[in-house]
Amino acid sequence: MIVTTAMLLNWLRRTADGIHTQCELLTALDAAIGDADHGINLDRGFQSVVHSLPALTDHDAGHILKATGMRLISTVGGASGPLYGTAFRRAGMTLEQRQTVTPEELLLALRAFVQGIKTMGQAEQGQKTMLDALIPALVTLEAALAASTDLPAALEQAALAANAGAEATIPLVAQRGRASYLGERSAGHKDPGATSAALILYALAETVAEAA
Ligand code: ADP
Ligand code: MG
Repeated sequence: MIVTTAMLLNWLRRTADGIHTQCELLTALDAAIGDADHGINLDRGFQSVVHSLPALTDHDAGHILKATGMRLISTVGGASGPLYGTAFRRAGMTLEQRQTVTPEELLLALRAFVQGIKTMGQAEQGQKTMLDALIPALVTLEAALAASTDLPAALEQAALAANAGAEATIPLVAQRGRASYLGERSAGHKDPGATSAALILYALAETVAEAA
């Protein structure tokens, strides 16, 4: 299966819808261990991305993701704005000039997405961040594609892994970002960024499943 630029645009639209629907939940999660702005920040950013989509229709996959990253950097703010913004930009850089994307290229793009966050956030898995959803998703997608699983099923497995990874942040003590200021008191709460990351991957899985 091939991913088209139209599917990427639908993914971004679906992500914006999902973030908008879950805005209060994301903000409530951030209220427990941060400053109660994660949902509001991301909703503002992805609504801005949606407004920019008509101007992106005739562009290649790389341009679409890079432009999305720039827009997130300039509109989201907080820690997650630069982190997600860099992730989308890095993913876009792997897809320059591509009108269609193969499953292998999508895997490379997701790897660059995750690496962008790791580098910028100086973070690893297990530190109660968005990486706790993204790294299991990446590992799962890689294994599924290596086992010749078709793309929709592979992405569904990846989204499930992201969700499980987000749930698994609950007992962790935060070691990065604002939640780390709470030390041990950050344990017992789900990480907002891991929750939004799982949502972004679900939107991708659903978009590709719908197009299959
Ligand atoms: P802020 O903490 O500045 O208010 P947000 O509330 O928008 O930013 O985002 C918080 C989320 O960002 C956290 O839940 C966590 O997942 C993620 N995060 C924070 N710092 C880092 C980091 N250094 N590396 C990776 N992710 C991080
Ligand atoms: Mg916050």
